[in-house]
Amino acid sequence: MRHRYFAFLVCLLLGCAIAVGAQSAPSPLVVIRAGTLIDGTSDAAAGPRLIFVRGERIEKVTDAGAAIPAGAKVIDLSNATVLPGLIDSHTHIFLWGEDPAKGGYDANILYAGLAQRAARATAAARRALEQGFTTLRDLETEGAGYGDVGIKAAIAEGTIPGPRLFVVTRAISTTGGYNLEGYAPELDMPKGAQLIDGPVEARKAAREQLDHGADWIKVYMTHRSWVDRAGNLVSQPTLTVEELRAIVDEAHGWKKKVACHAYNGIGMQRALDGGCDSIEHGLELTDANIAQMLRQGTWLCPTIAAYYENPAPADTPAGKRDRKRVEVHEPSFKKALAAGVKIVYGTDMGGIDWSKPESIDFEYMVRFGMAPMAAIQSATSRAAEMLEMQGEIGVVAPGAYADIIAVPGDPLKNIEELKNVKFVMHNGVVFRNEAAR
Ligand SMILES: [Zn+2]
Repeated sequence: MRHRYFAFLVCLLLGCAIAVGAQSAPSPLVVIRAGTLIDGTSDAAAGPRLIFVRGERIEKVTDAGAAIPAGAKVIDLSNATVLPGLIDSHTHIFLWGEDPAKGGYDANILYAGLAQRAARATAAARRALEQGFTTLRDLETEGAGYGDVGIKAAIAEGTIPGPRLFVVTRAISTTGGYNLEGYAPELDMPKGAQLIDGPVEARKAAREQLDHGADWIKVYMTHRSWVDRAGNLVSQPTLTVEELRAIVDEAHGWKKKVACHAYNGIGMQRALDGGCDSIEHGLELTDANIAQMLRQGTWLCPTIAAYYENPAPADTPAGKRDRKRVEVHEPSFKKALAAGVKIVYGTDMGGIDWSKPESIDFEYMVRFGMAPMAAIQSATSRAAEMLEMQGEIGVVAPGAYADIIAVPGDPLKNIEELKNVKFVMHNGVVFRNEAAR
């Protein structure tokens, strides 16, 4: 009996050893020849480089003269600029545009069932990856519940192609603080976010969303906006500081962060006083807001291009509001940039049509004074830092995930070159390759 037990143990140990041996068999080596490398963290581009990829990670980056082991698969991007996969920190894969001619925001919820919305989200995820965005922070499903958790799981299990997703699920606002609205008061309309009133409900919503897989929590701190008689942009505040603090406290306890949609005014002040980790849009930041963001280490995700899309006719209240938003956003961004606020790249894609290029915001950031390399880093290493993935994504360096893209030209000379992604590798797997020779 004892012998048999001993033999069983030996077999078990041998079996384990064999299993460990099988696991540690090295994955095939892939070597990328990069003509120029923008690595995501360095101040300047580097000359020809070799990037060694094994499995889903980057093993090492060397000079172009380093020996390539026999049997390695070589991908020749020596005629291209190679960069880390890009990160869009503000998307909505479940939103299919808000063009008034197509029914605006409401049509997303009123006419598309969940299956259609999931199909659209699947297409959006694929589209982002095709354009070189290997990571998205997707900032709420707009009435599609926990669908983003499902899409994320489908990507992770390999059922559908898509970027690495950080999801927020339903988002949180207050009664009177989110669409659908403007319908007969007798109608119980669906809402695009989870509405709460009071710190108890706020904390409960955060707990529910975290329980069901939220990586971040998204809160709407302002909602409607309009131009007042003095010509100022005014935004309706939503949550109180106490309501927001309950959410932030809960999220931080789970070691998660809180993204706050906030334009300006009272809602912006509450967002900062309540401890938001990132301000979304930040259309009109005051000097005091900026000073507080610097003190608290708050991120800014400006989503500039979205406010230039589909403005209402100029002579309508909505049209005046749309033009005022654009008018205040540019100086606000410039002030934040000059002050050294931490800025991440975000498009609000979904709010704008997914047929638009996802690199649409770079040209605005550069036009408003951001250096091209800083704009690229806002979509690579800086975003990785916000997502607490520094060294793992947004960088071409040893140990990082092999999220690697290439464009034919030089994005430091012409930032719009980032709309021309021809090669995409995600987690070490080539997803698109029209560039390699
Ligand atoms: Zn958004």
